[in-house]
Amino acid sequence: MSAPCLFCKIAAKEIPAGIVYEDQDVVAFRDLNPQAPTHVLVIPKRHIGSLDDAEPADGALLGAMMLAVKKVASAAGLTGGHRVVTNNGPDGGQSVAHLHFHVLGGRPMAWPPG
Ligand code: 5GP
Ligand code: ZN
Repeated sequence: MSAPCLFCKIAAKEIPAGIVYEDQDVVAFRDLNPQAPTHVLVIPKRHIGSLDDAEPADGALLGAMMLAVKKVASAAGLTGGHRVVTNNGPDGGQSVAHLHFHVLGGRPMAWPPG
């Protein structure tokens, strides 16, 4: 059965991506249009549309995503720090409707974001 969305297809290896980390719950891959020297997306393998769509039963999966962020940042050598972002819904700037955490690093981040 083919996967229903872009990031489901990346998780299923039906579309190639620069995967930098994977475990049973989570895949992390390089963003196609990087906004920093390191720009990695951490996604759950199971489809969740956005943070708004997460349920209490997804708590362990959300925790696995956060721990994957830490591993990605460490593997990328982001010893000076990094930023984790999730764009949620239209006003949040979300363009792909499969939950993802952006991991951005390798340069100082400005605040507030645009
Ligand atoms: P959003 O705008 O939903 O927060 O983030 C979606 C991100 O996915 C964007 O940063 C965009 O560059 C990235 N993206 C969109 N399509 C692809 C793709 O096919 N492959 C990869 N690796 N990244 C993608
Ligand atoms: Zn999906």
